[in-house]
Amino acid sequence: MKKSKVFLITLTTLSLFFSCQKEANNDLESPQSITDQKLVNPEEAYPNRTGEVHSLYYGEQNVKVQAIDDTYVLGGDILFSKEDLKQNPEQVGAPSLTETADRSVGRTGRRWTNNTVYYTIDRNLVNQRRVTDAIAHWERNTALRFVQRTNQRDYIRFVTGSGCSSFVGKRGGRQDINLAPGCSTGNTIHEIGHAVGLWHEQSRVDRDNVVTINFDNIVERARGNFLTYAQQRQDGAEYTRNLDLGSIMMYGSFFFSANGEPTIVRKNGSTFNVQRDGLSAGDIQGINQMYPGSSNSDICDGVSAYVSGRSYPIGARVTFRGFLFERVSGGWDRLGQCG
Ligand SMILES: [Zn+2]
Repeated sequence: MKKSKVFLITLTTLSLFFSCQKEANNDLESPQSITDQKLVNPEEAYPNRTGEVHSLYYGEQNVKVQAIDDTYVLGGDILFSKEDLKQNPEQVGAPSLTETADRSVGRTGRRWTNNTVYYTIDRNLVNQRRVTDAIAHWERNTALRFVQRTNQRDYIRFVTGSGCSSFVGKRGGRQDINLAPGCSTGNTIHEIGHAVGLWHEQSRVDRDNVVTINFDNIVERARGNFLTYAQQRQDGAEYTRNLDLGSIMMYGSFFFSANGEPTIVRKNGSTFNVQRDGLSAGDIQGINQMYPGSSNSDICDGVSAYVSGRSYPIGARVTFRGFLFERVSGGWDRLGQCG
């Protein structure tokens, strides 16, 4: 432990030196903030572990994931359980009005209904304050409410893990947010972001307009984390107009660096500060579209009608005969009545 700390400090000092040499003419952030940025760790489910890569299907979408222990890991800290992913693409027909909303497999973008997230905190989790603080932050800034579970079927359990990680969206049943002792309140806010349906900000399809990914600087095991939705054929949707460098779901400039050089830079080559303090204005704007407050009472507002024969990604929503449906693994979930 002590040895690796010394090594880290040496490495940071060295790369700081090189950064200053190389970028002497650029508009640099203060050396102190650069040092801090290099010490911010990305959220990872299994730090420094690599699993065999599998090409599987989430609904009709192909995903490349690593198999580690009993889960598939995507993007460092995003988990899929083994039954979430299939060998072959899965196609479904029109929604059925008789179908119940009882499916138990995971789905991207699957929203929590009535803006309500149920949760428990495992009694052995250390520093539970970071969870209650993170929840308070979400409640202060969004229309989402977090309610301690009594007997609800679908809920989040905050529990000790090897790193910081979460599933994406409500997946049905109990879903864990894993928090190692080192995961901060900010990391917890980030993981809750995944659990309510957010992907990483740099996975946006329009991210190349704002940033450049330096794939040569990325450790090999993490290169997949830097692909866009389109490249990964995922069903991510973008709820704000522009990539938000200040998003709590955004990777930092030095995340997963193999050589101390930045992995993500602005188009002008400069690095930026990662923040894990709280939701950004852009995060809140996006969340408010996903989980509008009670003033927007019609759940079908802005949702298009189902079109026969069209392919819908998991997480897509349609209206059908006066009801709101969401595409899930294996079919459609009826979320509620329009109007
Ligand atoms: Zn993450």
